[in-house]
Amino acid sequence: MTLNAYAPAPVSSGAAPAGICRRYFIALLILTAVFTFTGCGNKADSKPVTESSFQLGTLVELTLYSGPGRQVFKKAFELISAYENTLSRNIESSEVSEINRNAGISPVVVSSDTFFVIEKGLYYSSLTGGLFDISIGPLVSLWGIGSEDARLPTPDEIASALALVDHSKVRLTAGENSVFLEKEKMAIDLGAAAKGFIADKVLELLTENSVKSAIINLGGNVVLLGRKPDGRLFRIGIQNPFDTRGSYLGILEGENVSIVTSGIYERYFEEGGKRYHHILNPDTGYPVENDIMGISVITEKSVEGDCLSTSLFMLGSEKALQLVESLENTEALIITKDKKIYLSSGIGNRFTLTDSQFSIF
Ligand code: FAD
Ligand code: MG
Repeated sequence: MTLNAYAPAPVSSGAAPAGICRRYFIALLILTAVFTFTGCGNKADSKPVTESSFQLGTLVELTLYSGPGRQVFKKAFELISAYENTLSRNIESSEVSEINRNAGISPVVVSSDTFFVIEKGLYYSSLTGGLFDISIGPLVSLWGIGSEDARLPTPDEIASALALVDHSKVRLTAGENSVFLEKEKMAIDLGAAAKGFIADKVLELLTENSVKSAIINLGGNVVLLGRKPDGRLFRIGIQNPFDTRGSYLGILEGENVSIVTSGIYERYFEEGGKRYHHILNPDTGYPVENDIMGISVITEKSVEGDCLSTSLFMLGSEKALQLVESLENTEALIITKDKKIYLSSGIGNRFTLTDSQFSIF
């Protein structure tokens, strides 16, 4: 795998879209997990063009350095929208909502894309001893983290929701692409996996449309297509998770890779001096507690990176690094709560620390 440069670029955007909490939208603009430095050092380079859109409950930003023109942006945003309409549990007509509505009632035949993402989710359940669990839906709804309804549930509410979370009760029938949730009121939530899958599909679309150099950023799921036109690596700034001002703590360089970040510094609420974030432990029903503040995972396929970023997050830094070292073509950068940075062995000198508050281990 080849990694290369990152850097922060100001996010271009307009007003918060209808239905989105303005306060939250502004927070997203400030707190993107990674920043892409899009500038060209060489005057001969074609100028990058960036367009952004609020989709998938997050900020989507596409930067093209080459290609057939603006039409390709339209196609890409439409593709993302089509996948959102299929994979979102917030959209009633989606395949995921259909599966959830039929929990305990009957199997639902879905598209091969939806089936693929669910299969991936179950694979990562087996890799993490069940910590990664796409049947987390009832708990996600209960906590409401990331929405205006976020609140601390009662222990009884948590126990009731937990009784519905069990990836072993998601039954897939491969020949017919059917999905059945065996227990009534179970619900799958692909929030930890689907953005990566969609980013891979956007990459395919751009490639088919002759784009040679681009950055796809679906709210922290970054895919780098090629290199910059001047032959240099892309530079991605890794957000300082302790700083709300959009500053980055270091720069990662790369080409033709996916870099996915999971963290607990964007989607959370505080009550009684305690932070409750959105990555939930399916054993306890509460946000996972360990030493990690944020993790960026580098893989070839973004769907793997998305599932892995959440999975590794749940394991804590020590086990996460062990797992990363055992996986092919996978690297990780872990930021802990005590401001240490752990790099997997393949990152080498492709990460440059720029903030002296942190130290590399
Ligand atoms: P990740 O670490 O990749 O994922 C964390 C998310 O995974 C949690 O937010 C939760 O949904 C789920 N999760 C929590 N614990 C576990 C666990 N143990 N195992 C597996 N999964 C877990 N957000 C909105 O606010 N409004 C929307 O309308 C909306 N629509 C979306 C539609 C789609 C198709 C997708 C994919 C996401 C949508 N989102 C929406 C969610 C949002 O954009 C992010 O995907 C989500 O906040 C988490 O992404 P992340 O990369 O920050 O974290
Ligand atoms: Mg993820």
